[in-house]
Amino acid sequence: MTKREGGCLCGAVRYAVEGEPIVSGACYCRDCQVVAGGAAAYGSMYPAAAVTVTAGETCTFRVFADSGAEVVREFCPRCGVHVISYNGSHPEFKSIKVGTLDDPSGFKSEGSIWTASAQPWHRIETDLPSAEKNPDPGIWNPTA
Ligand SMILES: [Zn+2]
Repeated sequence: MTKREGGCLCGAVRYAVEGEPIVSGACYCRDCQVVAGGAAAYGSMYPAAAVTVTAGETCTFRVFADSGAEVVREFCPRCGVHVISYNGSHPEFKSIKVGTLDDPSGFKSEGSIWTASAQPWHRIETDLPSAEKNPDPGIWNPTA
């Protein structure tokens, strides 16, 4: 089974993910723009059981998103980098921040969400599906 590893900027937090993601994509919500430094946040969602923190301990920050969903973000208490996020109502799925993988080169986005919050200078992949807010259930949003 494919195993990928990643971690925060300072190396205190390390994680591993097993298998292939359920879905991968870009989120253009304002919260993700803040966390990602202005860009969309690129994430890959896995069954929670496939995601293991292998070194260090994450702190969590919980916020209610525009959708009303509670978004839980796990970050390194030392360097502040967010490595994992998930919907508080669906902890059975966890998304890893693609940029924190040791080798993010294999990432393939399947679409964009929350494009209604995108900035005029964002370049959304127009050849991929997109949703102005959360995508419809079942298409590529198992938590909807
Ligand atoms: Zn760190």
